[in-house]
Amino acid sequence: MSRRHSNGHAGRGVNRRNFLKASAASAFLFGAGAKTAHAETGALANPSQGGARNIIFLVSDGMSMGTLTAAEHMLQRKEGRESHWGKLYRERSGEVRRGVMDMAPLNSIVTDSAAAASSWGCGHRIMNGALNMSPDGEPYPTILEHFRDAGKGTGLVTTTRITHATPSGFSINMESRGQEDEIAAQYAERDYDLLMGGGNRHFDPDMRGDGEDIYARFEAEGYHVVRNKEGMNNLPADGKVLGIYDNSHLPYTLDHVNTPNLLENVPTLAEMTEAALERLSGNGDGFLLQVEGGRVDHAAHSNDVGGLIYDQIAFDDAVGVALAFQEEHPDTLVIITTDHGNANPGLNAAGSGYERSNTDFDRIQNFTHTNNWILGGLNSDSSVPDIIERVEEATAIEINETRAGILQDALRGDHDAVYGVMSGSSPTLGQILANYTSFNWIGTVHTADYVELCATGPGSEAIGAFTRNTALFDVMLESAGVDRIQTAKRPYAMV
Ligand SMILES: [Zn+2]
Repeated sequence: MSRRHSNGHAGRGVNRRNFLKASAASAFLFGAGAKTAHAETGALANPSQGGARNIIFLVSDGMSMGTLTAAEHMLQRKEGRESHWGKLYRERSGEVRRGVMDMAPLNSIVTDSAAAASSWGCGHRIMNGALNMSPDGEPYPTILEHFRDAGKGTGLVTTTRITHATPSGFSINMESRGQEDEIAAQYAERDYDLLMGGGNRHFDPDMRGDGEDIYARFEAEGYHVVRNKEGMNNLPADGKVLGIYDNSHLPYTLDHVNTPNLLENVPTLAEMTEAALERLSGNGDGFLLQVEGGRVDHAAHSNDVGGLIYDQIAFDDAVGVALAFQEEHPDTLVIITTDHGNANPGLNAAGSGYERSNTDFDRIQNFTHTNNWILGGLNSDSSVPDIIERVEEATAIEINETRAGILQDALRGDHDAVYGVMSGSSPTLGQILANYTSFNWIGTVHTADYVELCATGPGSEAIGAFTRNTALFDVMLESAGVDRIQTAKRPYAMV
C-alpha cells in the first residue's frame, strides 16, 4: 500500500512539538461546557496547526472487555501471537493513552449504536435511535462534514450495512436509524470520498421501497461503484468510491473464511481498511476514516462465541493495518474503542485448579461456523438427532440429548429460561455451548459498562483516564485543526 504514499508526507509531522505544547491545555475537554471550549479557550492558538494530518477511528461495535480478552487469548493459544491491540499496549505503552469512556446517550444509562456514534460524530448526547439530531429534530453538523468542508478526505468502512448506525453516526442526520433507504439517499448527497460495507438492499432499485436506483445517483456524482473484492482491488487510482459487497451485513468472519465463494467475493475488514487508506492518503490535506467491526455486536446479541471471537480478531487485523499505516505516517492519530458492551461475555473458571477453563476455551479453535449458521439450518420441526448433528458439524462438540431437547423447545418457542430474555434459540444455544467452552453471557443486549478507549499519535494526549463520549468530537477537530462548522441556528442546550 505504498503506491500513493510518496507525496511528501515525511517531515510533515514537524508541527507535533508545538501541538503537544498546545494540547497540554486540553484537559478542558473533559469538564463541563466542553462544547464551547474551542472558541473560549483557544487551546490551539492556530487550529490549522493541528498535529494530526490523518485520523483513523476504529470501533469494535458492542465489544465488552471479555470479548477483547477472549480474542487476545485465542490468538495466543491458537496462533502463538499477540493481538495488534494487545501488542500496542505491551510494546508501545509509552506512546498510548488509554482509559475508560462513558458512552451514555441523552435518555438512558445504556446506549444504542446510533446515539453512541453520534456522540462522537457531533459532540452531543442524543436520544437512542437517532442520528445526529436533537430531540427537537434539528440536525447537528457531523464530523465527516467538518472534515469534508476542510478539504480533507473522508471515509467509512464497516462489516455492517453502510447505512447502519455506526457509520451513519459519523456522517448522517436522520430522525431514526431505521430509515436506511433514506440514509443511502442522503449519502449520495454528502460528497464523502469512500464508503465500503454491506447494504445493497438500500441502494438497489429492485430492493428499495421506492424503487429508486441509488447507485445511479452515486455514479452521477462521479463515484466508482464496486460490488465485490475484485472490483475493489481494480479501482482506478483516483475518484470517490462506493463499495457495497452484500445485500445486508457482510458475513461473520467464521462463516466467511469457511465459505469459498464468500471468501472470493467479499473483502475482509482489514482488506477494506487497507484499500481505504491507500486512497485517502492521496489527499495531501489528510483524512478521517472510521473503521467499524460491526458484527462483534451482532454475535454478542446472539450469544455466539465463534462469531464473536473471530470477528473481534478480524477487527484486530484492521487495527494492525491502521497501526502499520501510522508507523509510515506518524502524523496520524489512531483511536481504538467500542461504543458499548454487549452481553458481557467471559471465560469462567472450570475444573480442578481452573485448568479445564483452558481446554474448554480451546474447543472454540475447532469451530468452523457460527451459531447463526447452525440455527439457519434448524427450525421448529428439527429432530433431536438433527440438532445434535448440526451443532457438531459447526463446533465439533457433541451436545447431549437433554440439551438438544432444550434447544428443540427453544426453536418451538416453548422454552422459558429463568432470566426470560435468555429463552430464545440463540441464547439457549449459546448457553448450551457454554457447558463445553466455559464461555458464557449475562444477557443478549447492550450494557452500561464504561468502555475501553485508547489512542496513539498526535492529539492522543487529550485522552485521560476518564472520557465523556462527546469529548472525542472535540479531540478529532482540535487534533486535526479542523474548524467547527458555524450553523445559523444553534438553539439547543449543549448536552
Ligand atoms: Zn447492538
